[in-house]
Amino acid sequence: MLLETRGLEARYGDFQALFGIDLTVSEGEAVALIGANGAGKSTFLKALCGQIPVARASVQLGGLDIGGLPPHDIVRRGLAMVPEGRRLFPSLSVEENLKVGGAFAGRRGPWTLERVLGLFPALQEKRRQPGTSLSGGQQQMVAIGRALMSNPKLLLCDEISLGLSPAVIQDIYSALPAIRAEGLAVVIVEQDIDTAVRASDQVYCFMHGRVSLQGRSTRVTKQQISAAYFGLEEASS
Ligand code: ATP
Repeated sequence: MLLETRGLEARYGDFQALFGIDLTVSEGEAVALIGANGAGKSTFLKALCGQIPVARASVQLGGLDIGGLPPHDIVRRGLAMVPEGRRLFPSLSVEENLKVGGAFAGRRGPWTLERVLGLFPALQEKRRQPGTSLSGGQQQMVAIGRALMSNPKLLLCDEISLGLSPAVIQDIYSALPAIRAEGLAVVIVEQDIDTAVRASDQVYCFMHGRVSLQGRSTRVTKQQISAAYFGLEEASS
């Protein structure tokens, strides 16, 4: 198993956001996290990559406990995050933004500047421009490319389609097979349920900080998803 969480809990001060999340990701697998606003999806990703404190043994990567380690340690072990809102460095060019992603991880692998520009050809001619001068979709490509540059085993993507048009979302998602062909596993948080199901092998739905549904993406039904997403009352009414 590449990633395993066991009874993962997370808090913001007195407020408990996650209650005992058990989730697994195999090597090369794509897992989608869905759920209503505030269900805890972003908190879960932040817990995985060390942005909020969690118990050491509640997150295992490649069999080693990594819960609550500092973010730079976690990146070095092969877990990279594409944060919600892209968060590019405004004073850096596209190329510099991408290089920053590889600089601190110290990991070797297939993803180099040239490979990333090959994956997203739209970035090629903009490589010397400030990252923030690009369109939203192109900025998203830079954010994904920056994470790839650390040559992770597992890529976490937080709402990569947020604010983008359907055509651009399709462009972005069409890069996933090439990324997965290199053996990477991905966890995507996605608002659009059809996109989430289509892009994944396994789907988890969160509700109020708990897993309300888990199953193979080809097997879960729309009814199961609405029950798990909105709660049984709404689903049956
Ligand atoms: P969204 O789709 O809105 O991002 P989400 O499923 O990612 O939703 P989270 O952002 O993980 O949900 O939020 C889970 C809960 O934790 C929510 O009740 C939210 O209000 C709370 N929360 C998130 N960030 C903080 C914070 N920094 N301080 C306090 N509470 C927070």
